[in-house]
Amino acid sequence: MTRVIAISTNKGGVLKTSITTNLAGVYSLEGIKVLIIDTDNQGNAALSFGLNPDNFDMTIYDVLVDGFSPKQAIIEVHKNIDILPCNDNMALFEFDILTKMDQHPKPFTLMQQHLEPIVSEYDVIIIDTPPNLGLTQGNVLSFANEVLIPFQPESYSMRSLVKILNAIDQFKKRYNPELSVLGIVATLVDRRTYLHSQILQECRAYCINLGITLFDTIIPRSVRFASSVAMEGLPATLTDKNNPLVASYFDLAKEMSEYVEKE
Ligand code: ADP
Ligand code: MG
Repeated sequence: MTRVIAISTNKGGVLKTSITTNLAGVYSLEGIKVLIIDTDNQGNAALSFGLNPDNFDMTIYDVLVDGFSPKQAIIEVHKNIDILPCNDNMALFEFDILTKMDQHPKPFTLMQQHLEPIVSEYDVIIIDTPPNLGLTQGNVLSFANEVLIPFQPESYSMRSLVKILNAIDQFKKRYNPELSVLGIVATLVDRRTYLHSQILQECRAYCINLGITLFDTIIPRSVRFASSVAMEGLPATLTDKNNPLVASYFDLAKEMSEYVEKE
């Protein structure tokens, strides 16, 4: 069965897009067919493959709002990797749907409704999400089977974590009984920073208490890595296999598959 994995949290800059695109890179190398669904109007998923999001004739917006077939918008960006792209049009999604509730009586299930027919064409679907808990994120949580939550250990990170976990709980109850928390992955970690290890410890205790997986793999902070990625026009996992940071994405993918085997 196709895994539909949302990369969700209400925070920005915590590596949602990096995880989405680098995991897609890992899967593509393993011969696993991936669809990236970008739902963030910044369109960074396509940018990671060197494509300008403003140049797409059709995006997820046209699929969700005007009912175009997802196949008309999906493009292949690499071997085994397709993208359903997003761009600035999606900034109007909430307004356009909520002001026309007569045409869209079930606003949280638009992704379910329009994307379900293509799910079985892929082995894995990874959904990149915007940094908030609005209508778009709600659609994602109604559609996905699993949620991977990036967690940057900073002062207020536990508050955000509690919020996204509560949102997942609510969507599970109301719209999507199949939804589960795949796990939490710590990102942008500097192990030498006392605050980081302290907050990670707090997060670990919290996860144990709730029976949620905190993956052993962490994605370390590396400014050099970030600037090299910006140059390539491809996710790092498809360009620079010797980089220790790239290895962390392979480790994460491995842990994620072990989690499924255990179920
Ligand atoms: P989000 O999608 O959650 O907003 P991104 O994946 O876009 O986050 O990452 C935020 C920024 O961090 C980007 O500019 C990206 O290039 C940079 N970045 C990616 N990986 C790392 C890393 N390991 N260390 C430091 N910066 C990183
Ligand atoms: Mg992003």
